[in-house]
Amino acid sequence: MAKIFQLNDHLSNKIAAGEVVERPASVVKELVENAIDANSRVIRVDVEEGGLTSIRVLDDGDGIESDDLETAFDRHATSKIKYDQDLFRIKTLGFRGEALPSIASVSKLLIKTSTGHQEGYEMTLEGGRITHRNSTAPRKGTEVVVSDLFFNTPARLKYLKTIHTELGHISDVLNRMALSHPDVSFILTHNEKVLLQTMGNGDLKRVIAAIYGSSVAKKLIEVSAESLDFTVKGFIAKPEITRSNRSYMSTILNGRYVRNYPLMKSIQQGYHTLLPIGKFPLAVLHIDMNPILLDVNVHPSKLEVRISKEAQLQELVATMIQDAFKQVQLIPDMSKPA
Ligand code: ADP
Ligand code: MG
Repeated sequence: MAKIFQLNDHLSNKIAAGEVVERPASVVKELVENAIDANSRVIRVDVEEGGLTSIRVLDDGDGIESDDLETAFDRHATSKIKYDQDLFRIKTLGFRGEALPSIASVSKLLIKTSTGHQEGYEMTLEGGRITHRNSTAPRKGTEVVVSDLFFNTPARLKYLKTIHTELGHISDVLNRMALSHPDVSFILTHNEKVLLQTMGNGDLKRVIAAIYGSSVAKKLIEVSAESLDFTVKGFIAKPEITRSNRSYMSTILNGRYVRNYPLMKSIQQGYHTLLPIGKFPLAVLHIDMNPILLDVNVHPSKLEVRISKEAQLQELVATMIQDAFKQVQLIPDMSKPA
């Protein structure tokens, strides 16, 4: 007698949620990524009690068609890729079709959405099961409210840290999103208090000022470099601005914030001996390349990626930073006569 059966959808979504939804900040990350992929200009995130009570993400993007609304909550359902080869030219932040079903399976979720062309729709789900669906007034964009996260997964709920810690993770997510998308306006509130607000006018320096303060913004050097395969631009802080960990080196690859140690190393190499031992620089670099050179399908969180021609890119970044310091005469330029 057969003993092996396919899991039902609810169970497999809940298992996927274990990977995708680690904590409130993961919900924020997934929902904001969806808003960015939907071409939003203004994205508002309101959280209560560190996201444990409620997380609301409101965007002014493309919205979801009425016919697609239920499908969007099916596992592996996505509008972002279709064919095998699409996986090697990913231009969107999402593509797995796992976030909405995973989040819905471990929370109480309300979604309101409209493409702006037709009436709006709203739907509620509890533990992944649809409990209500209705039409509403049209407002172009999408609003998702996630309440009582992990209400049906007690062990996960117990593992969550204090409101303060969870809020810290959410702030990190929003900061990274804002640094990655200076052309989008972000607002983050916690218990109705505004924690971050960016203009969305494309000015990266202003975003850096909003996040790290104006004293840091005053000490920035603008950098850029180009090779056949890569374009790099952004800001590096003068070496007098030091940090005691690596997390102030932001590398954004094709609009995606990633953590890449080889790239961090090449930034540090660029600073060479200008930084005291044990100290790390602050830098924000946007690096663009043909998506074929970037494998983002490495880890569910997509924070880790693989870059082809990585050594070339490292060299480009390190040299770019050294050249910038030569220009402001922080390191002597041996190639020029004295
Ligand atoms: P993925 O982002 O990997 O495609 P998700 O589960 O996050 O998977 O979302 C499923 C689909 O729902 C998306 O492909 C998109 O078509 C739609 N969607 C989700 N959020 C939004 C949003 N804020 N605006 C417009 N469409 C959305
Ligand atoms: Mg998504």
